[in-house]
Amino acid sequence: MPVGEPSRPYVICPVCGHAFRATSASTYVTVGREADLCPKIPGRPSDGARLIRSAVTMCPVCSFAAGEAFDDLDLTLDERHGIEERLKEDGLLKVFRKGQPPWLGFHAAEVCGKERSLKSRELGDLCLRASWVCRKEKERPFESTFQLRAMRHFMRSLEEDDLIGRELSVTTYLVGELNRRLGNHREALNWYVNAGRTTEGDPRAAWLDRLIDKQSKLAREQAA
Ligand SMILES: [Zn+2]
Repeated sequence: MPVGEPSRPYVICPVCGHAFRATSASTYVTVGREADLCPKIPGRPSDGARLIRSAVTMCPVCSFAAGEAFDDLDLTLDERHGIEERLKEDGLLKVFRKGQPPWLGFHAAEVCGKERSLKSRELGDLCLRASWVCRKEKERPFESTFQLRAMRHFMRSLEEDDLIGRELSVTTYLVGELNRRLGNHREALNWYVNAGRTTEGDPRAAWLDRLIDKQSKLAREQAA
């Protein structure tokens, strides 16, 4: 092993049983965040994309992917079968499995997450991270695809997940910000107002209030 390379333990895919060395999720230094909370990471954008990607592990054989450590997953037989079927049938995986584009792990984790009944908030988070990777890798059309999917999951999450506190405020804000990025400026303004209502009187949300103000101004200019 070359000096300085972190040791990479073997992980075993809980779906197909393949053993492989996974890149462990690394912590990284950020220098602030963009308005959609994408971390700004010093260095080349592609290095930043690689660090964000390390949040998911994907099996190189069957494409099972998850944000959790594989050891921690305890899948039922039904879940394993369901996941296998979904991975086989998925259109994007069929086309892109060989090419391994940088967003593929998040997409696969979303596909598997649906079968594992992850909450909409978590599915949205996977898609949001995929959109960050696409932006850093300059994959524009896919960035929009994942922003739209993240937005839909977050909207469902606001209806179904009983979010409270910071999670409620941030999720509502993100629906606004993703709308703005997708060009729906008036929609965005409505969601920023909703987000502002959820933070009222909470001093810990001052950073979010400032962000809401700033992005509302931007959306108003863009809507004009
Ligand atoms: Zn596998």
